[in-house]
Amino acid sequence: MSAGAFVLVGGGQVAAVAARTLRRRGYDGRIVVVGEEPHRPYQRPPLSKEYLSAGDDSGLVLLPEQWTEDNDVEVRTGTRALKVSAADGAVLVDDGSSIAADAVLLGTGARARRLPGVDGEGVFHLRFRDEADALRDALVPGARVVMVGGGFIGGEVASSAVDRGAHVTLLEAGPVPLAMAIGPRLGAACARLQQDAGVDVRVDTAVQTVTRTGGRLVVATTRGDVEADVVVVGVGAVPNTELAVDSGLDVDGGVLVDERCRTSQDRVFAAGDVAHHVHPGLGRRVRVEHFDNASRQAAVAARSMLGEDVVYDEPHWFWSDQFGHNLQHVGHAHADDRMVVRGDLAEGAWTAFFLAGDRVTAAFAVDAGEDIAVARELITTGVAVPDAVLADREADLFEALEGLA
Ligand SMILES: Cc1cc2nc3c(=O)[nH]c(=O)nc-3n(C[C@H](O)[C@H](O)[C@H](O)COP(=O)(O)OP(=O)(O)OC[C@H]3O[C@@H](n4cnc5c(N)ncnc54)[C@H](O)[C@@H]3O)c2cc1C
Repeated sequence: MSAGAFVLVGGGQVAAVAARTLRRRGYDGRIVVVGEEPHRPYQRPPLSKEYLSAGDDSGLVLLPEQWTEDNDVEVRTGTRALKVSAADGAVLVDDGSSIAADAVLLGTGARARRLPGVDGEGVFHLRFRDEADALRDALVPGARVVMVGGGFIGGEVASSAVDRGAHVTLLEAGPVPLAMAIGPRLGAACARLQQDAGVDVRVDTAVQTVTRTGGRLVVATTRGDVEADVVVVGVGAVPNTELAVDSGLDVDGGVLVDERCRTSQDRVFAAGDVAHHVHPGLGRRVRVEHFDNASRQAAVAARSMLGEDVVYDEPHWFWSDQFGHNLQHVGHAHADDRMVVRGDLAEGAWTAFFLAGDRVTAAFAVDAGEDIAVARELITTGVAVPDAVLADREADLFEALEGLA
């Protein structure tokens, strides 16, 4: 492809993977990464895990300076994109200048959801590296931490806080943590991992306000007050769609993109947490906030920018590390799917397969990532493995898969 210019807005996972994909596939035009944060592109999963607990930044950087120099990729930090011109694709940024572009990729991600009345000194959210640094400083031994939200981020922050010697109370508004994501039975099994590590898990407990009285925080909940030194709010994320709206793109629960990550305007693409994507395998739109999704969609978007005919059709996959356990999920289960459990939910490694008829639609595993690799194959190929084999810990699933393929 001859020289031109592509602008990758966001400076997160999407922008980084897209820049690498474009160069790997031979694009020799100008590439400009525009990110509003003061940092060069970095990845977020460690922010609630090893970077929060121990300040370990070894795996954080996504586009090392040497790589961007060698590959002639411009990285503009501290720069917010305001609008993409519908007329010529140029990107207007907040210093008043415009960057000419043949195509633009929006990877503006999502931001932490705020709860009204739950803010002020001592209240933390976790989306940015700077927020992880500030929270780590507050997680001193003996600190009383209230974690608002029993989702995956809530579990990870609770785990890191325990590692740092804090006492954690986790407040979950619903009857079981993670029930929305993996159902009540599996959610209860994961909550036990937290309780075994000493976390005080309180369900059906919604936070109302946080007030500061004489150096301590009082968290008012629907089940009474809880005292704290630190409050962390992890109640989901909201897609950053402002740029898309201001640029006249179609937006509905995220930036609307087709299976090729194309938006409603010819020159503009979107991927990652901000994209509400038509997933061919599921036959509907889905917006997820997963590292793998952001990476794979970014690669597809970059190839679409190059004019290649490629769709993103992978089963969604994510992981979480907490309390010394590795949790993984692949696929999308439906409310009426049956569940076949491999192992014992009460202890050790286990996997829950979800099935519609004899087809696996999703799987969730604790300390059994190898089963998730097989589940991924079963979802994409549609190969049926008998329930008895799925449930038998002694049966080799890879072998079963090969035998049936
Ligand atoms: C604490 C934490 C832990 C996580 N752990 C896991 C995990 O264990 N497993 C997993 O699968 N996923 C995990 N995720 C999710 C994963 O990190 C995200 O799905 C991924 O980062 C999404 O990439 P993205 O490029 O779409 O957005 P982001 O990485 O959020 O990057 C978007 C960037 O765009 C910037 N931006 C927004 N608007 C503009 C604008 N107008 N101009 C310029 N810049 C702009 C934002 O400030 C941000 O820097 C975690 C996320 C967080 C926050």
